[in-house]
Amino acid sequence: MVCSFCGLNECEAWLKSYCKPCADLRRMLILYDPMTCADILNRCLLRTPDQITHKINAELKKNTVAELKKKAGGDDKKDYDCPK
Ligand SMILES: [Zn+2]
Repeated sequence: MVCSFCGLNECEAWLKSYCKPCADLRRMLILYDPMTCADILNRCLLRTPDQITHKINAELKKNTVAELKKKAGGDDKKDYDCPK
């Protein structure tokens, strides 16, 4: 039987109506304040266009720095491997 919340996964057990992740979410919503849970999920999972741009720039910068470090390290090693 498919989960009645997400409609994607199979249910935890034959008599249950939610899959494992949805059942866990439901338990968290029961244990904690649903507004707090929704606020945390919104802050963590949903991003504004500015935040998306900032994240993309940070990832590009990270990749560029990693490539520069790799190139710098590779050139040093190359000099050792190929004596002139
Ligand atoms: Zn589900």
